[in-house]
Amino acid sequence: MTDCIFCKIVEGTLAADIIYEDDFCIAFKDLYPKAPVHVLVIPKKHIENLAALRAEDQPLMGHMLLKLTGIAESQGLEDGFRTITNTGPGGGQEVYHLHFHILGGNIKPA
Ligand code: AMP
Ligand code: ZN
Repeated sequence: MTDCIFCKIVEGTLAADIIYEDDFCIAFKDLYPKAPVHVLVIPKKHIENLAALRAEDQPLMGHMLLKLTGIAESQGLEDGFRTITNTGPGGGQEVYHLHFHILGGNIKPA
């Protein structure tokens, strides 16, 4: 999708601090971190959010969920981390390309 900033990061036309990449997803540091460690994990495929998922995306979602812990641990979060995904205006979503926030380092109870 040409006007999606996260698709541009996937394509390499917008710079990001990429810390993990495979055939299906990438992870990069959030530009405006809300915790000492703040990483975004996104599918390479443009999907708006959880509400836009289709049955065919099930393997991709399983793949991504299984990658989150290793990505978090690679950033020093061996003792745990917080995962957030915002969906739609009611969820405070700002960038409409599905992403999982990984936050850690100084997390207060929700
Ligand atoms: P959300 O509110 O869940 O849509 O969160 C979007 C996140 O993307 C925010 O935490 C932003 O700080 C982050 N963000 C926006 N633009 C960029 C960018 N170019 N590179 C990295 N993170 C970004
Ligand atoms: Zn996109």
